[in-house]
Amino acid sequence: MKNKRSLAAGIIILLAAAIAIYALSTGKAAVNTFGKLKMESKDGLLAIGDDVFVSADPEGTVNMTLFVSQGKGTLIDAGFNEKQAKVLQDYIDKNKIELQNIIITHTHEDHIKYLEQFKKEGVEVFGPENTENGQVIVCGADELRILDTPGHASDNHISVEIVKHGVLAAGDVVTTSFVPSMGYGSSTEALINTLETIKGKKYALIIPGHGMPMSGKAAIELNLGYIEKLKKSVVKALQEGTAVQKIDIPLQSVVDDDAIISAKGADAVNKNNIREMYYLLKNANK
Ligand SMILES: [Zn+2]
Repeated sequence: MKNKRSLAAGIIILLAAAIAIYALSTGKAAVNTFGKLKMESKDGLLAIGDDVFVSADPEGTVNMTLFVSQGKGTLIDAGFNEKQAKVLQDYIDKNKIELQNIIITHTHEDHIKYLEQFKKEGVEVFGPENTENGQVIVCGADELRILDTPGHASDNHISVEIVKHGVLAAGDVVTTSFVPSMGYGSSTEALINTLETIKGKKYALIIPGHGMPMSGKAAIELNLGYIEKLKKSVVKALQEGTAVQKIDIPLQSVVDDDAIISAKGADAVNKNNIREMYYLLKNANK
């Protein structure tokens, strides 16, 4: 089971990056605006406003987000890919940014590989283990706020609010390049609750763990919308008494996004999600 999950994770990571790069290279992300925030490419990174920088990875991995205030920086997640880490390190060096904090959303390996590289003397490291919900982390003249967002990793998961912009660096509880992976070392119920919480906060923009940043509304619609549609279909199958292995819910019936539907491996994740949802509903009915 663990190997299957690692394989699925690998596939997801590759796809997320491929799609992100495709979007960058086709200029889809040239300039986008979210409320007052502008998002454009800069120095191999995606610049959001003039103080948030998201890495986009050519080899296939997770988003790393750098927030800068008065020359001080906070890095959210420490990546997986060498080139990606280098682009970000170069940006930090070139702009003489003093890294103050590193915040790790969860300890899956694609989020922590370059932690040691970025962790210089005096850099404080935060993660699910040593933070509390609502905790404020100061960066320069600005504040970041921790939001507990369980539902993806067994050792808990946090997201980071960039308070001044109403932006959430969500980590892997939100993905925009793939269907959500349910039961990923945590409970589906927790993931649904987390997505509802995020929805209620009405973020202008969400930076997902994998995939392109999106308006908060669109990102939640994509993730929660999928889960809600899947739930409806599984409820119907349960009512009809269909055996779990016979439940057939095609991706097209639960997702609208063509890129996600055609993403390699999405079908297998969807099948796993059907099982997760089936047992969640079955146990709830006991
Ligand atoms: Zn990840």
